[in-house]
Order: sequence, then C-alpha cells, then structure tokens
Amino acid sequence: MTRVLSVTSECVPLVKTGGLADVAGALPGALAAHGVDMRTILPGYPKVLSAQPEAKPVHRFDDLFGGPAAVLRGTLGDTVLYILDAPHLYNRSGSIYLGPDGQDWPDNPFRFAALCMAAAVIATDGIDGWAPQVLHLHDWQAGLTPVYLQQRGATHVKTLATVHNIAFQGLAPAHLRGALALPEAGFTRDGYEYWGKISALKAGLVYATRLSTVSPTYAEELMTPEFGMGLEGLLRQRAADLTGILNGIDEAVWQPPYSDLTGKAEHKRALQQEFGLDPAEGPLCVVIARLTGQKGLDLLLEALPALLAQGGQMIVLGSGEPELEAAFRQAAKTQPGVAVYIGYDEALSRRMMAGADATLVPSRFEPCGLTQLYGLRFGTIPVVSLTGGLADTIINASAAGLAAGVATGLQFHPVTGLALANAFTRLGALYRQRDVWAQMVRNAMAHPVGWDSSARAYADLFAEMTGAE
Ligand code: ADP
Repeated sequence: MTRVLSVTSECVPLVKTGGLADVAGALPGALAAHGVDMRTILPGYPKVLSAQPEAKPVHRFDDLFGGPAAVLRGTLGDTVLYILDAPHLYNRSGSIYLGPDGQDWPDNPFRFAALCMAAAVIATDGIDGWAPQVLHLHDWQAGLTPVYLQQRGATHVKTLATVHNIAFQGLAPAHLRGALALPEAGFTRDGYEYWGKISALKAGLVYATRLSTVSPTYAEELMTPEFGMGLEGLLRQRAADLTGILNGIDEAVWQPPYSDLTGKAEHKRALQQEFGLDPAEGPLCVVIARLTGQKGLDLLLEALPALLAQGGQMIVLGSGEPELEAAFRQAAKTQPGVAVYIGYDEALSRRMMAGADATLVPSRFEPCGLTQLYGLRFGTIPVVSLTGGLADTIINASAAGLAAGVATGLQFHPVTGLALANAFTRLGALYRQRDVWAQMVRNAMAHPVGWDSSARAYADLFAEMTGAE
C-alpha cells in the first residue's frame, strides 16, 4: 500500500465551498481499491469538530503559530481523518476563508501555514504509528508544505501539488516570512516570492515533487498567459512534472431515476410544472452554477433569443453576482420560456438534471467542471464551451462525431455569445431528429464519469513517485 496524506482546507461531507471539497472527500475511498492508504488532514473548524465528537488527540503542539494545538484522529468514511484542532486559528463562526466583513480573515496566512506545518511534522515524525510516503497538497492552502518539509530535512517524503483553480494564490505580505517560519533564501523569483509578496501557491508549484490539475486540457491551458494568471512561465518550466487528471462524480448520489430516454418524459413534465412552464416543442435546458463571470452566463443572456427561436426553454438555478441575478430574474419576467431560482439547492439541482433535455455550461475557463458530468450521467445533453475539463469530457456532435455515432454533447468555440447562439441552433436541429438525439442520450449515459479511472491515474502517479512497482 502506498501511504498518502491528503492536505486540504475543505472536504465533503464536512466542509465545502467548491469542487476541491468533492475531490478531497471522494479520493480516499476511491483510492483504497487501488492499493493506496490515503489519510486526510483538515483544519478543525467548529463544524468539523462538532461532526466528529469521538475524535481523540494523537499529537500535540505547544505552540503552532500563536497558540497550542492538537491533531485529533477521526474518520472520513472508511478512512482516517486527522483534524488539526487549533482554536486560536479555527474556532470562529462564519465562512472558513472570510470574516464577517466579507474579506479574507486577516490571519489566513497563519491559519493555512499551520495546516502545512502540521502536515510536515506528521510526514517527518509519523503519527499514530503511521508515516506517509507522499503528501497530496490541494491548492494554495497546502502550498507551503514542501518548504517546511525541506526545512525539516524530510526530503525522502514526496509531494504532489494539485491546482483546482489557479485564480486563488494565497498571497501574503513579505514581512510575514519570519513569522511564518519561511527560509530567507527562498524569497526570490525562483522561490516562493511573487512580485514582492509571499505566494503560498507558487511555493507549492516550485517545490513540490510533482504537479497536477483537474483536467489534461486545463494543464495545457495553465501554461499560457490567457489562463496561467502569472504562473504560466513557471508551469512551462515544470511541464514535464505537470499532469492533468479529471475529477469524477459520486455515482451513488448522482443516480438518475430512470434508465433510458423514455423514463425522462415524466420528469420533464414535472419540472415544467414546478416552474410554471408550458410544454414546448424544443429542448428544455438547465443551468446550475455560481453566477459569476467565469461561468460565461452573460453570454447565455446574449444567446437566449437563439434558444427560444428553436422552441427551447431554460431554467436557471444559481446565486452570485447581483447584476447577473437581476438580469436572469428580468429574463424570467419577460420571457415565457425562462424560469429562474436564485439560491443554492442540491435536491432541486437533481430534479433539474432529471427533467431537462440539455445542461448548459458556457464557461470562460473551467478547470474540470462537474455539471457536465452530471449531465452525461443523467442523459441531459451537455452544451459546453471548448475549454478545460469541458473539452476533455464531452464528445462534440460534429459531423464526424455524429457519423461515428459517438457524440455525447455539443461544444462551441470561441467562447462568445454568437458561437453559443449557433450551438443553440444546432441543438434545436439535433433535438428534432429523434433517432440522433436518442443515440446521443444513450452515449452520454454510457460515458464513464465515476472515480474509477481517475483514482487509478492518481494511484499510478503516487506509485511512480515512490518508486513502487
Ligand atoms: P465550481 O467549483 O467552479 O463552482 P463545478 O462545476 O466544479 O464548478 O462545481 C459546482 C458544484 O456546485 C456542482 O456540484 C453544482 O451542481 C453545484 N452548484 C452550483 N450552484 C448550485 C446551486 N445554486 N444549487 C445547487 N448546486 C449548485
């Protein structure tokens, strides 16, 4: 068994703000079948501690960045969870990253440096009679770990830094490097310095043994100025160490309540009724997303007339930027074929996937994306921009894709309102060809979207890193 410690700031089902939590929560269980003993270390936020009342201390720190701390042993499904209980850093209400003013907690550099330090100590000294061979570092919050490992001389422990979204880099003022116990010598352009600041993400990308991100296409994109957010040069230098491994979905949770296209009809009718939509000639499309610029939803508003011209309908579930919320509310008011629910509701998102014909994901960038995977599983044809994980998971209904009988969705490029409008016209035409549509739905539902092949890819990577067979 390869022993791996996953170092993460969030983890399903305990605490989640984004897709990172889904990955951190799903991987340990999925990897067990592939000969990997993955344990997890997570900060002891109040809701983590209250969900794990049985957790017992297995290690103590007299002083971890300003106060005493302990590592508690709890459980994550059938795997081991280590909880870093450091009340001076984590015992506060509200969001895990943001204070009541909506800004980052001012001591965030210390809150996550503590997580990294605890991981480095566990890697060097072992815990509980167990010592990891590899540390799996998620995003900037785990980025300083390889620096602390090097300081502790634990060069035999390997590290994999995984980027879930490069937009978040964990920058801190330069004067904190002493207080963060960072070596002076590393504060250079080749080290953890980023334009005069400390960058926790860059530290991870410079010092980790290997790098990964959540799709092969995003891995390529990260090496370009358009997507690399200033770190593209570094990533190009480390191209040989960078891999893209797709996320999977939890198929036990995302199980369609039907086995083929005919079973969808009653769910479609129920969904239309729930939202007060009349039966229509064209495809019923859904959007389930954070309403932000990243997701390209302004393009959707621009292209909406093309969908409606096909007799199509659209239901939007999401919350986020006030202007987008207002614009979708307005569209619902003025267009009979459009309905909107502003909020976050997972049960509703499943009813929408079950009842819709198509799911729309017009993102400007998308490291992996989950909604198109749910769409495949539910036979709810994904209409996606050609970027990141959306490029890697959907087989476009191009002439070639259709002729070969393998298409699972529609891709559009460039990411503009016009290209999306053209995709809606294609969508309408495909939807009217019932045999072609039925074939696409069958293809989509048969496409593997679970964790199995990705878990194997991670297991192979860990084995390669440790020199195991
Ligand atoms: P990101 O992590 O960038 O938000 P992903 O597609 O990777 O995008 O993951 C988003 C997850 O959040 C999906 O599981 C999606 O279904 C869910 N989601 C987003 N908005 C909502 C909402 N308003 N209600 C329910 N689920 C939502």
